Amino acid sequence: MDVITTVREMKAYVKAVRQRGETICLVPTMGYLHKGHLDLMRMGRNLSDHLMISIFVNPTQFGPAEDLSRYPRDFEQDRRLSGEVGVDSIFFPTPEEMYPKGYATYINVEGITGTLCGVSRPTHFRGVATVVAKLFNICEPDVAIFGEKDYQQLAVIRRMVEDLNMNVRVVAHPTVREEDGLAMSSRNKYLNGEQRVSALVLNRVLGMARDLVAGGERKTEAIRKKALDMIASTPDAVVDYVEIVHPETMQCIDMIEDRAILALAVKIGTTRLIDNTELKSS
Ligand code: AMP
Repeated sequence: MDVITTVREMKAYVKAVRQRGETICLVPTMGYLHKGHLDLMRMGRNLSDHLMISIFVNPTQFGPAEDLSRYPRDFEQDRRLSGEVGVDSIFFPTPEEMYPKGYATYINVEGITGTLCGVSRPTHFRGVATVVAKLFNICEPDVAIFGEKDYQQLAVIRRMVEDLNMNVRVVAHPTVREEDGLAMSSRNKYLNGEQRVSALVLNRVLGMARDLVAGGERKTEAIRKKALDMIASTPDAVVDYVEIVHPETMQCIDMIEDRAILALAVKIGTTRLIDNTELKSS
């Protein structure tokens, strides 16, 4: 497995892969890999000849009061796990390599970034769209895989790829969960024993909402209220948002007509966790 740390070397590397006639699948990550990431990579193995991942804790997607400096990192473990699932190459740049002195260009995807995480993290998606566009330009993937766990991120990237006519096929992977239902996340590491139990409220809320919709409930306010009550009665849990939105526009809706997304962000202690589920009326 090859590890490449500079943009110049990566561009030459990609050129050689392409000259061999191989297709490239890219799985962008921030590292500290867990089974969710590895499942995305296994999917990528079947979608292309060359499986590439990136490991980059992208500073531009973190707000000033967020966890950039303490975000968990373990490159040697990531390298070993990637090797086990058949990754061919890892792009592992430094922040200075990606944002050299004088860097000044950012991508703003409008509209769909104005709700959910875009409200509590106002500069987050600008950082995400910018780094993903840069990764696409550097790595030239035919296919790129993103997790539905970060549903709004997926919607933002799809929008950007379509709007900017990028030559990449975006593929979604379903959310991978622990056996007890907690969505896998590098940030789960921050939770202590009691918080780990409290964190299960996110998945319980999703199940409750699916059950209500299956039973005929269509009014989003009724579902939201029940969700807020469940979170309020969970120790150490503080709601950031609970919203039911249109699956493409990410705008809040009053009634579930066909498909909708219930998206949650909840702080468990100091750890902010997100999760989501599709709600289908038929
Ligand atoms: P991250 O390292 O958190 O930036 O995640 C890298 C990619 O893995 C993103 O596309 C995430 O949506 C995806 N991902 C992270 N956790 C999960 C999960 N539990 N299930 C599915 N995809 C995930």
